Amino acid sequence: MTTYETTLTETVRAIRETVAALHAQLTAYRLVAWTAGNVSGRVPGYDLMVIKPSGVDYADLTADSMVVCDLDGNLVEGDFNPSSDTAAHAYVYRHRPDVGGVVHTHSTYASAWAARAEPIPCVLTAMADEFGGDIPVGPFAMIGDDSIGRGIVETLSGHRSPAVLMRNHGVFTIGATPRDAVKAAVMCEDVARTVHIARQLGTPRAIDPVDVDRLYARYQKVYGQPGRSDGTE
Ligand SMILES: [Zn+2]
Repeated sequence: MTTYETTLTETVRAIRETVAALHAQLTAYRLVAWTAGNVSGRVPGYDLMVIKPSGVDYADLTADSMVVCDLDGNLVEGDFNPSSDTAAHAYVYRHRPDVGGVVHTHSTYASAWAARAEPIPCVLTAMADEFGGDIPVGPFAMIGDDSIGRGIVETLSGHRSPAVLMRNHGVFTIGATPRDAVKAAVMCEDVARTVHIARQLGTPRAIDPVDVDRLYARYQKVYGQPGRSDGTE
């Protein structure tokens, strides 16, 4: 085996382990039911990604059961078929070279906003920090071709939010790493729930756009420590 091949093998192995472990976060945060939801990670320097297999129980997901696909969604390595959302993930990686991780869930509160096709308004400082404004709604799109991926990319282009509510469907999030994308999915559900509750009790107060900008800039700079991309202190 050449050095080139050894490096690729080791890189893929590490991403298989990362992506498999991150799926446990989806269940820990109760973002998924049954086998719905998925995490993927780009293989840096190659037109490849690691993604969840289709129809395997969360409890049975391991690094070895993850599958490797090219960025057209074709299976390259793995014992299972790739997730049925693979085409959407692949489209995002093809069109957003800055994206290293993609997550999809049908998490309850965020999907309830998606069902109403209503953006989540930026009424919490945590939203300004993480999303830089409202969490937008993408188009209705059928699974099976590029339409979901195109809807994600078009909705998020020029937007600071790493999360999009796909109408009548659920949430897709992006990040520089798979962990960043999982964090965005967790935060999206958290703020979707809080703003939903606020709505039951009255009218949430908007944050002045100037303050949203200041909060976002501060969070991205002050909390973006070298070597850490998740904003934790
Ligand atoms: Zn879905």
